[in-house]
Parts: sequence; structure tokens; C-alpha cells
Amino acid sequence: MDRKRFFSLGAQAAAGAVLAPSVLRAIELRPTSNALTFSQTPLPYPYEALEPHIDTLTMRIHYGKHHAAYVKNANEAIAAEANPATTMEQLFGTIGSASAKLRNNAGGAWNHDLFWSSMGPGKGGSPEGKVSDALVGAFGSFEKFKEVFTDAAMKRFGSGWAWLISRDGKFEVTSTANQDNPLMDVSEVHGKPLLALDVWEHAYYLKYQNKRAEYVAAWWNLVNWDAVAGRIDK
Ligand code: MN
Repeated sequence: MDRKRFFSLGAQAAAGAVLAPSVLRAIELRPTSNALTFSQTPLPYPYEALEPHIDTLTMRIHYGKHHAAYVKNANEAIAAEANPATTMEQLFGTIGSASAKLRNNAGGAWNHDLFWSSMGPGKGGSPEGKVSDALVGAFGSFEKFKEVFTDAAMKRFGSGWAWLISRDGKFEVTSTANQDNPLMDVSEVHGKPLLALDVWEHAYYLKYQNKRAEYVAAWWNLVNWDAVAGRIDK
């Protein structure tokens, strides 16, 4: 390969990193049956919008590479295994009998969509209305909820997620390993996910290195409580 061609390919790769959602749509597998297909929801804000709490490069790699790969691999696994699920509930409700590839990547595809849409620039603060009422009812106060959720995020050993879920109408905090989520039959705690925090190192290492606590503390400035409220009745 000559230098000119090398640099041309390099430029295409760089463009691909920026245009990940459209590139992804182009390569997305389309099973011929009515099998479930994941697609990557466009980010509801620019990569740089969550600065300084989550840096631009982390967002670019996390969304454009990690999340894109989960979506692609989940669709590959669904097709390869001819998974019969037609809804997300069916898929996650039977994921224990699927392959590790499908479990990990379907979880990764779905969890990140919830994560992106749980954040926004200029958000944070404390919730109002029914979210506030439910948090106070379950934890005693909003501050106590933050403490319990932060604790779950910090104590998740290795890679995983911290969750606020609704279980039989009551709010609870839990955490899962890897890309599992509380909709999965394999999860220790089951419920409707309302808020998710990614505590994989890929979510924070470029900016925070080993200081997960600083990442979690900064993340509270981004939480979109309106999005959480919108999920309660769904
Ligand atoms: Mn992630």
C-alpha cells in the first residue's frame, strides 16, 4: 500500500468514527424474518455536550465504537441463533438460554440507549413531582437515595451497571455485572429500569483513570430527571 492510499484510508476511518450512526445503519444486519433488530438511537446531544463531566473523546469512543459494536454483534447473534423473540421483554426474559455473545451484546445495545437518554447538558439537580415522591418514599430523602445509588456504583466490582428500578411500583437500587440488566431472567433483582449508570472503565478511564468515585460524583450533574419521570408510566 502506498502512502497516498494509506492516508486516504486513514481519512475514511476518521470520517467513519464521526459518522458512526449512519455507518452503523448501513452495515446493520436485517434478518429476513420478523426477528428483533437493535439499532443505535442517535445521541440526543453532541459528543462534547456533557463536558466537563464526561469528556468528548470518551463520548466519541463510547458511543461510536463500544455501543456501535454491541448493536452490530447483538444483531449478528440474533440472526446466527435464529432467536425467536419479537419483543425486548421476550428476549431479555429468556436470555439465560441464549449464547454469551447474545446476552452480553443485547444487554450492551439496550443498556447504553437508556444511559445516553438518561443524561443531558444542563441537567442534574434534584427531581420534582412523582420521582421525588417515590425516591423519598423508598429511601427517606433524595440525598439518601444518592448515597445508596453511589454505593451500588462504587461496590460493583469490575465492569457493570448501577440501576434505579421500579419493582411492584416501589423504587429500588441495584447493580448488575457486565452488560446484564434487571429485565434479564438471569438478573438477581428484577424490575423496570428507570435510570442507569455505566461503571465500566471505558465509560470514564480517559478522564478519571482509576477514580470511579469522581466520575460518579460528576455524573449527578447530568442526570435527566424528566427522562426518568417519563419511564415510570411506560
Ligand atoms: Mn459502556
